[in-house]
Amino acid sequence: MTSRDGFQWSESAGLTKGVPSIGVIEPATNLDGTAAGRFDVIVVGAGYTGLTAARDAAVAGLKVLLLEGRDRIGGRSWSSNINGYPFEMGGTWVSWGQPHVWREISRYQMRDQLEISQEYSHGVNEFSLGSLQGRRTMSHHEEDQIIESALKKFVNVDGEYGRKIMPFPHSEFAVPQSKTFDTLSAADRLKQIEHSLTPDEYTGLCGFVLLCSCGTLENTSFYEFLHWWALCNYSYEYCVEYLMKYKFKGGQSSFAIKFFQEALDTGNLSYAFNRRVSTIKDEKEVSVESEGETFTALRVISAVPLNVLNDISFEPPLPDGKKTAANTGHVNKCAKVHAECRERELRSWSGIDYPKNKLAYAFGDGTTPSGNTHIVAFGASHNHLDPEDDIEKTIQALQTLVPMSLERVVFHNWAKDEFAKGAWFFPPPMLLTNHLEDMRASHGRVFFANSDWAVGWRSFIDGAIEEGTRAALAVINELKRRQ
Ligand code: FAD
Repeated sequence: MTSRDGFQWSESAGLTKGVPSIGVIEPATNLDGTAAGRFDVIVVGAGYTGLTAARDAAVAGLKVLLLEGRDRIGGRSWSSNINGYPFEMGGTWVSWGQPHVWREISRYQMRDQLEISQEYSHGVNEFSLGSLQGRRTMSHHEEDQIIESALKKFVNVDGEYGRKIMPFPHSEFAVPQSKTFDTLSAADRLKQIEHSLTPDEYTGLCGFVLLCSCGTLENTSFYEFLHWWALCNYSYEYCVEYLMKYKFKGGQSSFAIKFFQEALDTGNLSYAFNRRVSTIKDEKEVSVESEGETFTALRVISAVPLNVLNDISFEPPLPDGKKTAANTGHVNKCAKVHAECRERELRSWSGIDYPKNKLAYAFGDGTTPSGNTHIVAFGASHNHLDPEDDIEKTIQALQTLVPMSLERVVFHNWAKDEFAKGAWFFPPPMLLTNHLEDMRASHGRVFFANSDWAVGWRSFIDGAIEEGTRAALAVINELKRRQ
């Protein structure tokens, strides 16, 4: 099945919209017209948060309605199925260091369905570092040394590389003093240590920090970067291990479908795709308006991301704190672009090209069924790219990273996505200090769950599962108390 989402380009077909995915659900609804009745809980959004919440509630015996604006499950995590190959359009890498994800991988017995992305063993087995001063290539060992050395200078705010200031990465602000780092942007922090960096370290550090936030150095919260660092065991080695090494052979959609299928198998799940929710009213019951139809429930879980929360009209209106958080939004406008190229020897290549290239960070991510190399590249807001608006510029950006002959380019433009308005969550300074609690708070009988305000692996699939679990449990407990 082909989703409306995503784009593909090849020399013969040009640019086309829509990408095949096993995450597209057919039939698009199992509502038969008589279900306009009352549900225990309506879940809005079928990303990992909504899927987890809907599954857990359905397994607990609640009558659940899942409403989703897109034609597919997975939200910001979904994979293509192009000639059987999963280019990951959004969320990709998972790891056993992410507790909620790993619980689900165990639940669905998918431990043996992971493969390794970065595989530095052969061919052009080197790293290319492009900067305003020019470009040079080096070994991956040297790459690691440069980035690790720069990162250690960047995060060493307490003489212990962040361990003292953030000893419990899953407990937000456990050390209240850590909040002072939320007043700083990555650019502010860079200014403090710039004098101690070599030119290569400076470029490598900027490339890596922008890979994490995909904003600008100026709008990237330094606190959140420290939080990521703490989650990664305070080490660059684990940043690589946890953030970009292990992915599903069958793609993210092969994982997401398990949640959906389990919920469906309970017989308690009604669902409808292509249903944008426009209004949520908490009156005698909670009513949800979508595409001209109204559904009612005892509770609602809104599982939509921060940057689109204000697109839904709430009655009574959302409290000021939540509204302000949504108006502020997160800063990630990542362009993630996949290149399928004919050069098999590029599988072990990686590179950073900052600040001139619109795709600043890239590496060999896999081998397609036809034996071509799959390279994944990321661009951030410092040099923003809307790939579909200028495919020639996109191709040029890829070929400037490393000369390659392109079979195919595949991408999803998250910055322009109407149901996300951004990629993974990355906050500007002070958003978390001022509004994390606002984002997490329920509003009457409406619960708000999303990876964007998880406390652990916030911004990740793990955080989505953490949040879906939290919301479902809260609803299950409240409805139990009513009996
Ligand atoms: P979402 O996935 O955004 O789900 C929300 C759902 O709500 C969507 O399906 C949306 O369509 C729907 N919706 C929104 N508005 C409405 C409405 N009005 N009516 C009906 N439905 C609506 N995480 C990792 O762990 N590892 C990675 O490697 C990784 N890489 C990433 C790369 C990219 C390019 C992106 C974009 C994300 C990446 N992430 C990664 C982050 C991860 O994908 C997200 O944190 C996670 O998928 C968010 O899940 P969610 O359910 O909380 O939100």
